[in-house]
Amino acid sequence: MFKKILIANRGEIACRVIKTCRGMGIATVAVYSDADANALHVEMADEAVHIGDSRASKSYLVIDRIVKACKQTGAEAVHPGYGFLSENKDFQKALAKAKIVFIGPDAPAIEAMGDKITSKKLADKAGVSTVPGYLGIIKDVAEAKKIAKQIGYPVMLKASAGGGGKGMRIARNEAEVQEGFERSRSEAKSSFGDDRMFIEKYIEQPRHIEIQLIADRHGNTIYLNERECSIQRRHQKVIEEAPSPFLDAKTRKAMGAQAVALAKAAKYVSAGTVEFIVDPKRNFYFLEMNTRLQVEHPVTELITGLDLVELMIRVAAGEKLPLKQKDVGINGWALEARVYAEDPQRNFLPSTGRITRYLPPPENQHVRVDSGVQEGGDISVYYDPMIAKLCTWGRDRKAAAAHMLAALDAYYIRGVSHNIAFLASVLGKKKFVEGKLSTNFIAEEYPHGFSEQDLKAADPTALVAVATLVHDAYARRAASISGQVPGHGRKVPSHWVAVVNGAYGYHEFPVSVKAEKTVKVGKKTMRVDSAWTPGMVLFAAEINGKAATVHIDLCRVGYRLFHDGCQMDVSIYTPRQAELARLMPKKPPPDLSKFLLSPMPGLLMALSVKEGQAVKAGEALAIVEAMKMENVLKAERDGMVGKIHEKAGASLAVDQVILEFT
Ligand code: ADP
Repeated sequence: MFKKILIANRGEIACRVIKTCRGMGIATVAVYSDADANALHVEMADEAVHIGDSRASKSYLVIDRIVKACKQTGAEAVHPGYGFLSENKDFQKALAKAKIVFIGPDAPAIEAMGDKITSKKLADKAGVSTVPGYLGIIKDVAEAKKIAKQIGYPVMLKASAGGGGKGMRIARNEAEVQEGFERSRSEAKSSFGDDRMFIEKYIEQPRHIEIQLIADRHGNTIYLNERECSIQRRHQKVIEEAPSPFLDAKTRKAMGAQAVALAKAAKYVSAGTVEFIVDPKRNFYFLEMNTRLQVEHPVTELITGLDLVELMIRVAAGEKLPLKQKDVGINGWALEARVYAEDPQRNFLPSTGRITRYLPPPENQHVRVDSGVQEGGDISVYYDPMIAKLCTWGRDRKAAAAHMLAALDAYYIRGVSHNIAFLASVLGKKKFVEGKLSTNFIAEEYPHGFSEQDLKAADPTALVAVATLVHDAYARRAASISGQVPGHGRKVPSHWVAVVNGAYGYHEFPVSVKAEKTVKVGKKTMRVDSAWTPGMVLFAAEINGKAATVHIDLCRVGYRLFHDGCQMDVSIYTPRQAELARLMPKKPPPDLSKFLLSPMPGLLMALSVKEGQAVKAGEALAIVEAMKMENVLKAERDGMVGKIHEKAGASLAVDQVILEFT
């Protein structure tokens, strides 16, 4: 077995690999860029080597520096994690040349699966069912239109080198091919330096189901069941689970057998994933094979009891797989939610900055948190803004989901925006609960994006009760401070008025508190047992005997509460304060409808209109490139372009005015 392993990655996956190495008694080496000097993975590893400046292209992607770091530290093997160099055949070759073991497949297998056209051809040959389509390189829009017509609409335009949902677009008619083809191609060019495009049939209402496999160097290849990853946004996974609520034993076996056949055809070793899309009739089609560990591998670990990183390391060291296909079972159910630094209410704009508070839920038999950050750490602009993967396990799907909701409630992150509320909201949707998933789930359930309305609790009274108890406690503390002016000491009333606003509309609730426990909100009486004391950000309680955790933040109007995917701002007044508050003038929100604002920080690639031009609703106004995606900004209604504030080539801040309408 290896004595020392270098992890050529950062963030949560580097930390996760280090944990397994530790358990196996293997020393670890981290590598880091300028931006990551104080990162968690650097702290966790036994040694760390600085490999360059913050840009990945100058650090995590520089093969020579990583090989040098191995030599310098005596690391005998490299785990690449996912992303960065994990699917780079040149990296594999460079390591082989330096006699360092790459913990992953061999270069030819990476190469064969590295691009979608080649891998689809190989899959076809190995008897794997693939999406009907055209397997050649398409040279221009005219050819794309011709082929799309032959395949039949809708079609998927895809970059052969694509990954992470980039360079991929659905086209439902010729006009969409016209618009999408060049966009996808230029995205592919800028992201992957490879603009080869192909077209396949778009499978309607598809589910994304993938098979995890592992192979050793002794000819053993087994599959470790499936993961369903249908909850996606812009073709990027958000929530994953294992097993899939859709597969029956027969389909699982058929998919597993095809995945193994493909791996054998590619002479595959190590862990890999064969991705399929599955139509509503359980027909499945090969999409691609990922020749590395996947982000969502923990759900497989939770239902099989295996440690995939350990298996990868053992196989790389030449060991035989310790189990056979018949030993692989399914125990219970697991879910994973990807916790991102992003703002769901602003079209999931990535958020960067310092994490000022970080309290992940406690880990136990039901909860696993793979974090890549710590309190005081930074989410930088340079890398993927993932904060952590939150995974839960339960006896069945319902139990796993209940653990997930409770864990999300107990997850407290401040300093950057995050998607905890959005994740909880998804879990609460009826279709999710029923397991009726498709990759269109998010687009269908949130047709206008995620808004304040999605954060609204059906019954606000429990949150009102908690806010009042919190306020009551602060009031009692203020009243107990010594040295108050005699005769003017503060008194704590037994009756309060709670004012709820925002998405709820204006509501006043009369509230009374008895013995710090019994709270009457309107006509409803609740018993709230909690050990909360002022200053704590999590209010853990039993409300009428049911456990609940509520986030408490002080905000401008009083308190901001969050629980079960719902958020509420509440002001608590004495009856007299409430009377006076009613007389206060309300500030109307500013009218921004006359401006085209940049929805994200990015580059203004092109302006499609001129000053004085009339535009129709839906017409393209500008293209903003951000995170290597080209976003077309369209007119929301008919109008006339007035002053143009920014020229093509300008870099834009979020909410920066691009142009005005007259
Ligand atoms: P990437 O490598 O960019 O992740 P994939 O080929 O794995 O691209 O596809 C990502 C997602 O896009 C899939 O999970 C699925 O939701 C969707 N998708 C891809 N191809 C098709 C298709 N032919 N029909 C329907 N959906 C598709």
